[in-house]
Amino acid sequence: MDRKHIGLIYAGGTVGMAMTAQGYAPMPGFSAALAALLTSYGDALPDYTLHAYPAPIDSANATPKDWQTIARDIAARYQDYDGFVVLHGTDTMAYTAAALSFMLQGLRKPVIVTGSQIPLSAARSDAPQNLAAALQLAASDAINEVTIYFNGLLLRGNRATKTSTERMAAFDSPNYPPLAEVGIQTRLNMPALLPRAAAERFALPDYGTPLILPLRFVPGLPAAALRAMFDLDPAAVVLQCYGAGNAPDRDPALLDMLARANERGTVVVACSQAMHGQVAIGTYAAGAGMTAAGVIGARDMTFEAVFAKLHHLLALGLAPDALRAEFLRDLSGELSV
Ligand code: ASP
Repeated sequence: MDRKHIGLIYAGGTVGMAMTAQGYAPMPGFSAALAALLTSYGDALPDYTLHAYPAPIDSANATPKDWQTIARDIAARYQDYDGFVVLHGTDTMAYTAAALSFMLQGLRKPVIVTGSQIPLSAARSDAPQNLAAALQLAASDAINEVTIYFNGLLLRGNRATKTSTERMAAFDSPNYPPLAEVGIQTRLNMPALLPRAAAERFALPDYGTPLILPLRFVPGLPAAALRAMFDLDPAAVVLQCYGAGNAPDRDPALLDMLARANERGTVVVACSQAMHGQVAIGTYAAGAGMTAAGVIGARDMTFEAVFAKLHHLLALGLAPDALRAEFLRDLSGELSV
């Protein structure tokens, strides 16, 4: 069989950084260090071509435009490679992976996003293991979706979230099982993988800068904080509610604000601060008013997937009602139905 050929995009992240007087920053010469490492594995890994971005970033600086750039680069080179690996910082990796999954719907090749907790150039780095496994997984015919590979686990990209700043196991997908476990053997979880689509359905609209504002409820949050937010007339608001989608309901001004925002066309979504489980607003009386105010529950989507999905649907130019309907549809495995 021919050796598979992977497109390796280097967008930034700790993986390519070195210590400077100001802290970790992208290091010059990373491409050469990467090539030296991968060459040392010889034929054990698929062949690859590196596409290093001219100015790799700390992913804390990433914006939806960066998601769009990566998606468009993959789409433009789609026919050239058997799969893709994206080297990316861990901080916003889950947002990027989710956004890629919405732009690259119906993907029929693997896209594996990975990075590391310790730079490639530093002692005890987790980069060699993550990179090697990601390249091998990117050569698999069974994977047809955007994923995150980290520390032995392959996770669905739009289900993943960063759960540790310190552990090598930096990611988890609390509402979906791992797609593969990589130990001595690689064990693919076939029933969990997306089936191969009949055809790609890429959608690469221009990602603008719509106001999508998050708000985390905390005990005693003053209504004025919400008012200030809604006064900005956001396109969408993501409420990070308690538990199954509960929010304080003793202040009628709050529900009134939500209802008025909804009428003005702001899409208001309720997520949970809990990492595992479904949002079902209305389970408790304290959440019932939100349903009446037009708030939609994010079910079991991660916050990152919700945020990226709202960006994507707004970029497609959907009007609020169409957007609300599409938001509750499973587009790329991000949502259990
Ligand atoms: N700040 C880094 C980034 O997200 C963290 C990392 O890569 O682990 O780019």
